[in-house]
Amino acid sequence: MPESEFSIIDHYFHRSGAERPDVTLGIGDDAALLRVPDGQELVVTVDTLVAGVHFPVDTPPAAIGHKALAVNLSDLAAMGATPAWVTLALTLPTADTDWLAAFAEGLFALAAAHGVQLVGGDTTHGPLSITVQAMGLVPAGRALRRAGAREGDAILVTGYLGDAALALKRGAAAVSALRARLDMPHPRVAAGEALRELASSAIDLSDGLLADLGHIVRASAVGAELWVDALPRSDAFRQTVEREQPDWHGLPLTGGDDYELCVTLAPERIETARARLAELGLPLTEVGRIRAGQGIHCRHEDGREHQPTSKGYEHFVT
Ligand code: ADP
Ligand code: MG
Repeated sequence: MPESEFSIIDHYFHRSGAERPDVTLGIGDDAALLRVPDGQELVVTVDTLVAGVHFPVDTPPAAIGHKALAVNLSDLAAMGATPAWVTLALTLPTADTDWLAAFAEGLFALAAAHGVQLVGGDTTHGPLSITVQAMGLVPAGRALRRAGAREGDAILVTGYLGDAALALKRGAAAVSALRARLDMPHPRVAAGEALRELASSAIDLSDGLLADLGHIVRASAVGAELWVDALPRSDAFRQTVEREQPDWHGLPLTGGDDYELCVTLAPERIETARARLAELGLPLTEVGRIRAGQGIHCRHEDGREHQPTSKGYEHFVT
């Protein structure tokens, strides 16, 4: 049964996830009213997901709802911010009630897990596209940035790399543990908060480590040495790829869609950082060092240079 724009909003999006005391006015007026506490800075990010570009067209709608929010919370995590509010601009080809219910379920489950409230949005008719804007808070002056890495800093990544890219490559043949990493990434919000006072720079890994670390070195005016054999891989990744393929490095290096964090920090802080992430059940792996100069040099354990086969994901590049 087709529904109007207003009944879609009422039905699926008016319940707003968390009910936060800092929301003066949420969904239902021309705009939302939100209170930023003294001493905090507002951190704002927006990301669009287009069907067939950012997720395979056969992705379950609950996963689309989850991922649309997750990629934005991942950007807040990379700033060391605590998520607070989101808005949602939804363009739909049809008002499919089953699709909408599942989409909202996926989105609100993740919102509730992070204490985030949906405070507004826009609903229009057209090719499927989902835009989420996420807003978070960080103590003033304390946000992590891409700039700030210093010569001698260690380069570390949370979790495991390459799973999502492997799932995409395998398609229907991907085991569920890999497919879940593509469809339902877990934004590393708690890790970003835990590393905020320790890291010199940070970025979240959406386009592949090589491309994203490239943003850190350029913003920080430094170079980097990357130890490709140290890139952390999950059991599922090792079982699927590594036994067959001695050159498995491409996916963790340039595959993208990992939504892990990459941070730099002074080597004497590694143990503290690792202990904090262990409390969250997350590995933190050293994958290289910041060096003077520019660019990223990839090396094997035995010192041989590694020549990456691609740079990472870029839109408008074929
Ligand atoms: P306006 O025409 O003034 O922009 P809308 O009719 O687009 O207002 O939206 C009415 C209210 O519903 C607003 O508070 C808006 O933020 C909210 N809203 C619209 N679409 C969504 C959505 N997909 N998710 C959450 N809130 C939405
Ligand atoms: Mg509107």
